[in-house]
Amino acid sequence: MASFDQLSAKQIAAGVAAGAFSATEVARAALDAIDAREPRVGAFLQVTPELALDAARRVDEARAKGEKLGALAGVPVAVKDNMNLVGTRTTCASRMLENYESPYTATCVQRLLDAGAVPVGKTNMDEFAFGSSTESSAFHRTNNPWDTERVPGGSSGGSAAAVAAGEVPLTLGSDTGGSIRQPAALCGVVGLKPTYGAVSRYGVVAFGSSLDQVGPFARTVEDAALAMNALVGAGRDPLDSTSQDCPVDFLEHLEDPVEGMRVGYIPSLMEAEGLTPEMRAAMRKAMDAFTDQGAELVEIELPHMDAAIAAYYVIGPAEAFSNLARFDGIRYGYQEEGCATLAEQSAASRAHGFGAEAKRRQMLGAYLLSSGVYDEYYFAAQQVRTLITQDYARAFERVDVVLMPASPRTAFKFGEISDPTQMYLSDVFTVSLNIVGNGGVSVPLGLGEESGLPVSAQLVGPAFKDRRLLTFARALERAAGARGTVAPDFAGKGGELA
Ligand code: GLN
Repeated sequence: MASFDQLSAKQIAAGVAAGAFSATEVARAALDAIDAREPRVGAFLQVTPELALDAARRVDEARAKGEKLGALAGVPVAVKDNMNLVGTRTTCASRMLENYESPYTATCVQRLLDAGAVPVGKTNMDEFAFGSSTESSAFHRTNNPWDTERVPGGSSGGSAAAVAAGEVPLTLGSDTGGSIRQPAALCGVVGLKPTYGAVSRYGVVAFGSSLDQVGPFARTVEDAALAMNALVGAGRDPLDSTSQDCPVDFLEHLEDPVEGMRVGYIPSLMEAEGLTPEMRAAMRKAMDAFTDQGAELVEIELPHMDAAIAAYYVIGPAEAFSNLARFDGIRYGYQEEGCATLAEQSAASRAHGFGAEAKRRQMLGAYLLSSGVYDEYYFAAQQVRTLITQDYARAFERVDVVLMPASPRTAFKFGEISDPTQMYLSDVFTVSLNIVGNGGVSVPLGLGEESGLPVSAQLVGPAFKDRRLLTFARALERAAGARGTVAPDFAGKGGELA
């Protein structure tokens, strides 16, 4: 008997296809692992045994009939609770949507299901994806599996923690300013934010519509590639007007050598204040890993990076304010009772339905978009957006990929960062990519010597070169010899597979 958490998504799909075990056995193992581990992780807002066993049975029946199985056949997956999935609530970890039943299934989730994936539940997050620690969830905290006194990062903290705790091999998160890459870094797993437009946003509750992008968490780069094949394989989604075709097989060139390739790095970023010595050491390890494999390190500059956080915290709240206006206490979600007028009902519902950070963002957004203020902030932020986009374009004339930190530091303790602007600085290395749209991936690099917590690096690629980005990520994974692993306190706890 072995725990199913030893298997990658790729191995599970192969095992199911070969008949080594059935999808139903795997689903039961995943549900057992979740049962055994959840009390100490809290990664899930809902677990969906019925949906899982039903999907698994369909995979087993298809196999029995000799039908061709999908690339994720029998692979247990969980998705962030801002993604609609029929048969579940989509709460965005907010009281506002506590009882909101998904009316349809998001394209990204549907595509995993179409590939044979088995949905085991919805994962915890910062309320409406505002945050970097998952502490703003209205429901409960999610612990970092590497140290349960610490946060898993955010906002997709549940999706990162579920993979790091071995509850599932694959999850989906969304990344508006770093919410896939930062929690992946803090939990020691792979997290990919694809290029904006690569993955459909249809059915994902919007935060910043020009910034939001869905992507996978996994313990191996190969599993992230497998997930991407399912997410983009069917081509662009007509239901998301910004979605684009990117017909590539992400597994095909994964093992290509990176010899002769040019890896950019930004000396001033490596020395950035706030980057801890451990993270700096991880950067050096990543640089060595590339030179050892014959890649060339090239110094580059992104002169306007300093303005990225400021621009993001203008554009993000402005878009969030307009997107969240729909939660008006009348049409959707939480409704305050006993109000004399609709205006009162709306005001009271919003006051009680949203948590502090969600209110802060919306008030900020309302202010930034108000007349007189708009030009000074929103318009200026859009100009910064252009400048940073040009910075990256210039950099990618000289290099194939850029190496930078994903997070300034390892996982912090609950309550340790209480000042919102300090929390916003967690995103200092991630937000620029949402501003420009390019893909980025966090790659785990083992544990920091001092903290014993996961450290990682971020790789950034040109737009729509996400496949090659994963080739670099795989090279780093191979050289670092440190694929994401299940946190030791959780490995093997429940979820036996015969
Ligand atoms: N931490 C960032 C924020 O709070 C990013 C969130 C995200 O990517 N969803 O805005």
